[in-house]
Amino acid sequence: ARRSSKGDEVPKAKKEEQLAGRVRVVVRLRPRTADETKGDKDFADVVFMEPEIKRVTLKKNHWETDSYFYDTVLPDHASQKKVYETVTQPVVESVLQGYNGTVLAYGQTGTGKTHTLANIGLEDKSARGMMVRAVEDLFEKAVADTEYNTSIKLSYVQMYMEMVQDLLRPENANITLYEDPDTKEVTMPGVEEVMLDNLDHCISIMEVASKSRVVANQKMNASSSRSHALMILTVLRQPKDADKGENIVLLRRGKLYLADLAGSERINKSGSAGHMADEAKSINLSLTTLGKCINCLTEPNPGHIPYRESKLTRLLKDSFGGSARTSLIITIGPNPEHFQETLSTLQFGQRALKVQNNLKIQEDLDYRLLSKRQQAELDKLTAAVER
Ligand code: ADP
Ligand code: MG
Repeated sequence: ARRSSKGDEVPKAKKEEQLAGRVRVVVRLRPRTADETKGDKDFADVVFMEPEIKRVTLKKNHWETDSYFYDTVLPDHASQKKVYETVTQPVVESVLQGYNGTVLAYGQTGTGKTHTLANIGLEDKSARGMMVRAVEDLFEKAVADTEYNTSIKLSYVQMYMEMVQDLLRPENANITLYEDPDTKEVTMPGVEEVMLDNLDHCISIMEVASKSRVVANQKMNASSSRSHALMILTVLRQPKDADKGENIVLLRRGKLYLADLAGSERINKSGSAGHMADEAKSINLSLTTLGKCINCLTEPNPGHIPYRESKLTRLLKDSFGGSARTSLIITIGPNPEHFQETLSTLQFGQRALKVQNNLKIQEDLDYRLLSKRQQAELDKLTAAVER
């Protein structure tokens, strides 16, 4: 049941905490392509972005419109820098504080998910997407940090038909997931983790990885729009004076997931078809399950959340209804031909807006220091006995 009585008022601090934990949903409109602006293909606008009042309006026909509100509305002229600052930077900052964070792009194929997240921007730095910018930002902050030593580890995988393939070691094509029985954290044992030296190091790895992705997809006869690409940055921070102190130090360990999801269009098509071919079903499974989880989470009394039904949702469990800070970028295109897809994408975003996470700092004991101290105590004892 929904709480409505005044006696149940949540204290202010608690309220702010909850507000901070809600999944942030941002809508980004792709500009028209050259093709879409050509004479005979020209079309009337059906999508209207109003950033000032955070509203997106869809014009169904001359007399009907639908309006939706979001946390942020990014018009087609919004730069990658702007998208980074409004959507990703707050998540990166949380990760540095030791929270887990997630940034996802969800939308129909061709609406700009890969551009937004994975663009490497080799020729044009201003086109760099969220992945490169997050790493750049992390390194800038790490270098400027006088209190902590920061290390950044990178993993990069692709998920296609419930198979997880390591993009850093493509021969590793069927990674299994593991859930820690104590912490409930889901990890991918055996996945390559590269300790990053600097931004250029990351960019060169991403170049190789994106080629691996193309090769892998050719082999499987799949288009990249059917797979999810998931970058995982593990940020470990340790106080600089840790070695000097006697006390056991706490490490801050934040994980940042950056997910370029498969095109959302298949969900709807297969959904309306009633039953579907095995392949389509499997390709859909992760996105369908994500939708199911979100629907469950937004119910007043969420019971069982079906995270376990797909690999994507198992991995992203902490991002929806968990302890991570999550931003969801909903990408849409301007073309009236895809009106229905645009509408269902926007509605997906509306549901995600209601998902509440409870942010929690991830702290680890520094076992290396712990054992050092234990060793010292042991040495003392041994010395005493020998005397
Ligand atoms: P998706 O990954 O959702 O299928 P893409 O990122 O591949 O879509 O984008 C489709 C096309 O539109 C690409 O050619 C891309 O460069 C272009 N594009 C997408 N978003 C933008 C943008 N904000 N500005 C300029 N071009 C864009
Ligand atoms: Mg793409």
